Amino acid sequence: MKPQLIGGAWVTSPTATPNINPSDTREVIAEFGQADAAQACAAIAAAAEAFPAWSRGSIQRRGEILDAVGSELIARAPELGRLLAREEGKTLAEGVGETIRAGQIFKFFAGETLRLTGDALRSVRPGVEVSVTREPLGVVGLITPWNFPIAIPAWKAAAALAYGNTVVLKPAELTPACAWELADIIQRAGAPAGVFNLVMGPGSVVGAALVEDPRVAAISFTGSTATGARIGQACMARNARVQLEMGGKNPLVVLDDADLDLAVECAVNGAFYSTGQRCTASSRLIVTEGVHDRFAAAVAERLHKLVVGHALEDGVHVGPVVDRRQLETDLDYIDIGRKEGARLLAGGELVTRETPGHFLSPALFVDVDNSMRIAREEIFGPVAAVIRVRDFDEALAVANDTPYGLSAGICTASLKHATAFRQEARAGMVMVNLPTAGVDPHVPFGGQKASSYGPREQGRYAAEFYTTVKTAYTFAG
Ligand code: ADP
Repeated sequence: MKPQLIGGAWVTSPTATPNINPSDTREVIAEFGQADAAQACAAIAAAAEAFPAWSRGSIQRRGEILDAVGSELIARAPELGRLLAREEGKTLAEGVGETIRAGQIFKFFAGETLRLTGDALRSVRPGVEVSVTREPLGVVGLITPWNFPIAIPAWKAAAALAYGNTVVLKPAELTPACAWELADIIQRAGAPAGVFNLVMGPGSVVGAALVEDPRVAAISFTGSTATGARIGQACMARNARVQLEMGGKNPLVVLDDADLDLAVECAVNGAFYSTGQRCTASSRLIVTEGVHDRFAAAVAERLHKLVVGHALEDGVHVGPVVDRRQLETDLDYIDIGRKEGARLLAGGELVTRETPGHFLSPALFVDVDNSMRIAREEIFGPVAAVIRVRDFDEALAVANDTPYGLSAGICTASLKHATAFRQEARAGMVMVNLPTAGVDPHVPFGGQKASSYGPREQGRYAAEFYTTVKTAYTFAG
């Protein structure tokens, strides 16, 4: 059984569950301990105990530890990327890329330990000086999803640690292996006991324990909208700081004047890579009528060339769906789309391969109205809906007609329309002639409306969540 990391010690749990490879459900990667509330409580206590020394300790040393974590992640990217592909199902290339990105994030925040700035001002009162500084919060609880099993724990943990907080990480039930490796790396890089703790187990037990414990100053959560709403309310009730990254129903607008090849690539990449299991996936393709039929036909043709299969196999573009429950959700939505009157132009079928896995061919719907459920609800699978519009104005209105607001893209050669879209899109991230998914590690990530709550993640903006501001007045006498 893979143990928990609590207070610098590896601790076994009362029970364990198998981690199953979605490309080959006969394969058990390992058994992972399932913590109970008492273990979550012990991890919180360890993090609380470690906080004073860590927060007041050398920022040089902190940076060195984070840098060493980044170096090891990058050096071991082929091996860890493979583990990631085995437990989550994205392709090997995607798994390796994600691991390298996790390493780069640690290196970015290693530098940030030395760059945290404040302000020095004069007071309106003569002889008084004012300083504004940022301080760490204390123990932070990180609750993460399965779709980026190393990058999301990394971008939360690196920022939390860089600014002097101590951490309890609760990874998703489906993907404990990457989080376990990350914990092992952080521990061996020299993080003092209790600075970083890993508690694997059910959200309803371990996640809830973190959310409810008064010693946990802040919760950073990425996951579903429903769970996020519950966590947000619980944190608010006890005055804990909370950051929520939740769903998306991201539009990619394609105008008549777009470079068609580029638009097709953006759509296929954004909607179907990583098996469509990205909160930034382009699930609504909003296309003006002059190019609509050519675009839909070209995407369908591209989809027929995409190879769906075992995540580790050469030449596979799209790995399996993460588990049976998600596969059933995807199939349900494909059914709902058909019943609502949308036309399935490509894919949407179970695919049989040599290994038993959750393989689904990328599904493209046309004749979709933006009021249909497949255009409004996040599916989180390889399913995209093409919506026909008259012109740019209607495209923009449809793009914004959604409860979500994470990422929004446009493919166009028109500077005027690209600029108007950048200004008017109600989304945290806007992409011009690029897929809606795929972001840089050194700039803010997050959304508007129902997609996100609280300050942005990543880049220097992460300090807004992981620190609190202190204003000090000094009169020298
Ligand atoms: P999904 O349905 O895609 O797994 P969730 O939002 O349920 O998305 O899961 C995201 C993370 O939130 C996971 O780590 C999960 O264990 C955790 N989680 C689920 N329910 C709760 C809860 N009630 N309290 C705290 N964390 C939870």
